[in-house]
Amino acid sequence: MLVMMKAHATREEIEAVCRKIESMGYKAHPIPGITRTAIGITGNQGPLEAAAFESLPGVTDCVPVSKPYKLVGRELKEETTVIDLGDGVRIGGKELAIIAGPCAVENREQARATAKSVAAIGAKLFRGGAYKPRTSPYSFQGLAEDGLKILAGIREDYGLKIVTEAIDAESIELVERYADVIQIGARNMQNFSLLKRAGRSKRPVLLKRGISATLDELLMAAEYILAEGNYNVILCERGIRTFTDHTRNTLDLSVIPAVQRLSHLPIIVDPSHGTGRREKVIPLSRAAIAVGADGLIIEVHNQPENALSDGNQSIQPPELEQLLKEIRLIAPILDRTL
Ligand code: PEP
Ligand code: MN
Repeated sequence: MLVMMKAHATREEIEAVCRKIESMGYKAHPIPGITRTAIGITGNQGPLEAAAFESLPGVTDCVPVSKPYKLVGRELKEETTVIDLGDGVRIGGKELAIIAGPCAVENREQARATAKSVAAIGAKLFRGGAYKPRTSPYSFQGLAEDGLKILAGIREDYGLKIVTEAIDAESIELVERYADVIQIGARNMQNFSLLKRAGRSKRPVLLKRGISATLDELLMAAEYILAEGNYNVILCERGIRTFTDHTRNTLDLSVIPAVQRLSHLPIIVDPSHGTGRREKVIPLSRAAIAVGADGLIIEVHNQPENALSDGNQSIQPPELEQLLKEIRLIAPILDRTL
């Protein structure tokens, strides 16, 4: 159930409703909107009686939730969530977010050389895994905390916000200490204990769609994070597994408007994992922005032929520059900026 507050409800009235919800043993999620605050209720097993809340001061209406998710839905919050990372960097607002960098932090020189180019080209967010979930246990697994320290140095020296993956309870402790955004990868989209832990973090979370996840499963995974109190979640379409053999995955761009109809969370696109082929990254980036994505996450490597992971899908800095040039031309048609 959603408790809708009047447009001019006071802070005290909102707090009183939250206290009432909590006194019944449930969790209250007050979500301010442009015109009014809505309060989501979680933790109840069956339907709730509207009468318990309707008569409280400041309440205008109680609305039963028709969808399986409560907090990620547009029923709770009409306007798209804008995630503010500080220093003017936002995800979900008018400005498109560009996250660029290598698949993995391989060593200090490689990561910093790529970061320097990425910053010069104008991206504001840097990606790079310090913990790599790999298909083979013999493949490069990432530099762990040493990699995070390299990323922290990049943030310091190049002014880039850091997006990096946490793969388990141990790594998330470190990732939230060093990074600006915690990435949860496709393979962990339904790692429910990791989702709950991310929900207790103060850092925004980039949640990637699982390789065989439906739209509802993606939204329910995000719901786990919000239900714990972290409302700063960015969804990411990164391709799903189909029978195609001309790409690594099939980038499902039709999920973007579908998500936007149902959810207030921002959604970005990863054309690198989505296609697995470097020459497809620019065309699919153009398409992603045209379809309405809030940004892109792109693998960029200064020497892709020597990359320890995902070299085939990594573009080089000059291609990133070309990509941003093209996106800058498309953005105004959609009333977006870059
Ligand atoms: C990555 O971003 O490098 C990655 C491993 O992504 P995904 O979880 O989408 O495979
Ligand atoms: Mn990768």
